[in-house]
Amino acid sequence: MSDTRHTKVLIIGSGPAGYTAGIYASRAMLDPILVQGIEPGGQLTTTTEVENWPGDTEVQGPDLMIRMQDHAKAMGCEVIGDIITKLDTTSRPFKATGDSGTVYTADAVILATGARAKWLGLETEEKFKGFGVSACATCDGFFYRGQEIVVIGGGNTAVEEALFLTNFASKVTLVHRRDELRAEAILIDRLMKNPKIEPLWFHELVEVTGTESPLSVEGVKVKHTKTGEITEILCKGVFVAIGHAPSNELVKDVLETHMGGYVVTKPDSTETSIPGIFAAGDLTDHKYRQAVTSAGMGCMAALEAERWLAEQGEVEGRDVSEPLGYGAVAE
Ligand code: FAD
Ligand code: NAP
Repeated sequence: MSDTRHTKVLIIGSGPAGYTAGIYASRAMLDPILVQGIEPGGQLTTTTEVENWPGDTEVQGPDLMIRMQDHAKAMGCEVIGDIITKLDTTSRPFKATGDSGTVYTADAVILATGARAKWLGLETEEKFKGFGVSACATCDGFFYRGQEIVVIGGGNTAVEEALFLTNFASKVTLVHRRDELRAEAILIDRLMKNPKIEPLWFHELVEVTGTESPLSVEGVKVKHTKTGEITEILCKGVFVAIGHAPSNELVKDVLETHMGGYVVTKPDSTETSIPGIFAAGDLTDHKYRQAVTSAGMGCMAALEAERWLAEQGEVEGRDVSEPLGYGAVAE
């Protein structure tokens, strides 16, 4: 039997944006419900050390996300393990349908569905996914102890994955389509100093090769981007780290998107084109895509949702003439 839950603020997503929105919306006494989605804790649960979260010189991504979840819960946010499969924004209250069968009705919605790994779209990449091809070194790196591995990409994720994989692999080849990495300088420095990592510039993956029974990777074919020459590299694992795309499925047909699907928000705001629907974090951000910026946007979204609800008369006792965030916490 389906269950219906009503909330003033429904937060969809449990990354830094979602949990921060949960903390602020709870402190604003809005009794938010946060639905975690398929990846509780979001992208940071797929990494190890996070070194740029202020206040922690170094913290493990999954630990940080548990702390954020506990913080949101301690402030009064109800955190629910469910996946929103449909969001109806055509009338208010908004209506979100959960995979569990629960229907969540909400006066305001904060979208914080983040982003997920992109794939190259090769037939053989798809074929060997889970059998030697992966997009998560922290999840699967352990299986390649003493083996040779190839990492594809040139951003922070690719470099971090390559470095992390040296804990297990005998050798890591970083295949990048240019000869310049877009990763942070500190990571490039570590990469270049690591004797187990060999960068292969101006190459792209064209095929993953392996055995059929059992399905298992034996190597890759890479193509020189200028000469077209094909080189074969023997390896047991292939980690694709070519960036992330926004998880916009719930709203891509109703909200404006740009730059490859990122939800457009009003300047200096998390307001979307639908009043009462706010968007925060990697779902909206094609530029910075950091935990701290996502958390910042989660904060903005909760404050803006509170203001909007007050303007609608949904929250009593709020002075909407006050600056945003100022005096927002009911004592
Ligand atoms: P995400 O973290 O992407 O979380 C999205 C959430 O939405 C998930 O919980 C998911 O389950 C949920 N969701 C999606 N769809 C639905 C749905 N239909 N229903 C319900 N819930 C849904 N940034 C840094 O600042 N420092 C780092 O060191 C760093 N390291 C990184 C390492 C890796 C390997 C990766 C991939 C990223 C890293 N980043 C790092 C980037 C950082 O993780 C992101 O910027 C940040 O997590 C974005 O937060 P978010 O809250 O917008 O979304
Ligand atoms: P990214 O910065 O978008 O980099 C993607 C990389 O993959 C680029 O080097 C790109 O090449 C390459 N690429 C893209 N499409 C390709 C294709 N079809 N074939 C071959 N190569 C391809 O993505 P990311 O590294 O996943 O990072 C995403 C965001 O998370 C960034 O904002 C990043 O800063 C953040 N992040 C931060 C940290 C950290 O702070 N420590 C760690 C991980 C991620 P080009 O360079 O040629 O475009």
